[in-house]
Amino acid sequence: MTRSSEAHSSATGPSGTGPRRYLCDLALIDGPDGTTRVEADVVLTIEDGRFTAVETGPAPAPIPAGTRHLRGLTIPGLANAHSHAFHRALRSRTQADRGSFWTWRDLMYRAAERLDPDGYHRLARATFAEMAMAGVTSLGEFHYVHHAPDGSRYDDPNAMGSALLAAAAEAGIRITLLDTLYLHGGLTADGHTPAEGTQRRYDDGSFEAWAQRVDALTAGDGQRIGAAIHSVRAVDPTAMAAIGRWAAERRAPLHAHVSEQRAENRQCLDHHGRTPVGLLADAGVLGERFSAVHATHLTDDDVALLGSTGSTVCLCPTTERDLGDGIGPTPELTAAGVALALGSDSHAVIDLFEEARATELDERLRSEQRGIHSATELLAMAGRNGHRSLGWDDAGSIAVGRRADLVTVSLASVRTAGTTQATAAEATVFAATAADVTDVVVDGRPVVTDGHHATIDVAAELSASIGRILHA
Ligand SMILES: [Zn+2]
Repeated sequence: MTRSSEAHSSATGPSGTGPRRYLCDLALIDGPDGTTRVEADVVLTIEDGRFTAVETGPAPAPIPAGTRHLRGLTIPGLANAHSHAFHRALRSRTQADRGSFWTWRDLMYRAAERLDPDGYHRLARATFAEMAMAGVTSLGEFHYVHHAPDGSRYDDPNAMGSALLAAAAEAGIRITLLDTLYLHGGLTADGHTPAEGTQRRYDDGSFEAWAQRVDALTAGDGQRIGAAIHSVRAVDPTAMAAIGRWAAERRAPLHAHVSEQRAENRQCLDHHGRTPVGLLADAGVLGERFSAVHATHLTDDDVALLGSTGSTVCLCPTTERDLGDGIGPTPELTAAGVALALGSDSHAVIDLFEEARATELDERLRSEQRGIHSATELLAMAGRNGHRSLGWDDAGSIAVGRRADLVTVSLASVRTAGTTQATAAEATVFAATAADVTDVVVDGRPVVTDGHHATIDVAAELSASIGRILHA
């Protein structure tokens, strides 16, 4: 088969005008039986941001002019289901010392103190652009730095959230802004303690004040407003139930940090006599739009509750590893019917392939067994499951009618060379890195082409925006 050089030209036309065609040497597509498989010579047609044709079989020769040729393996868009954008400024700065989650949190609070809406906009735009270059087409921003450093409201009480929405739009990726309820500073056997110091930036004072603020947020195209319960430390059961009703009325995604730390479980048991999952279940918030983030230290009952309610668990293995949190019970969760999604959380690295392989490899170390989660299952965690967790049920797979997101991974780098069609999915999960992503398309729009972001000099912007935060 020969391929004409016209196939190398860029795709034509902005999003929403005229069909756009891609020829993929290899693509991970949905089969009619619901399975995913790697096919060769796949021609994709996109109109109005959706796939209108997915054709397999011998590629047409010559290739029609205007068709973009994607070499390597093209997979569905990835979803980074748990992000705190400002943590990107901490990368490499929190890895120098001994300590625990709690000593790391002190450093994180110090970075949070220095954020203002303009500085956060610039840092988030660069961070989200780094995500785009890693193949992320949707992100879930678990956003809790709402207010000025002394706890007072900005003139626009949503200045920080709006900065994050604008940042994602400029970076070219979809966002679900998980606006986070945070009412208390901690939990002891005697009850909740007040928010103090930097925590005042997170605290709206009441669920009602939070809801009034969040209801004034407006989402643009490719944007969604969801909700989050920071944790059982920061939200009491009455407020938990209220935000659960708020999310149910709006059919909005609802996330919560759950059982990342054994200390959190102890505090919750000491005061409430329930595990964090049990408490959330009592408050009525578990369900198909609910995602438990981390879910590292669970009881058998917790696993059963998450499974029976159709909840998702979002793992953040590189952060959990970095903070010394522990390893979540992934075989037990999948056996209970829990969908697993993935997030880069503290952004120690932004690489969904690394999150995916850590999910499998950490479990191998724990169980002393191999092959618990297959490569295509791990890619579904990084893609389809994450999108569903963020409310984008129509994204995360290459199939007619779905949102046209594409991520192309080079199979010609020093990490991936020698890969065949039969091993392309395994090479992507177990050997590729974010640096092997060459092309990214979001809702039919090319955002990364030949390894370059369409509009942002990402490394320079990261350097400048992090410098501004750290030297503020
Ligand atoms: Zn988090």
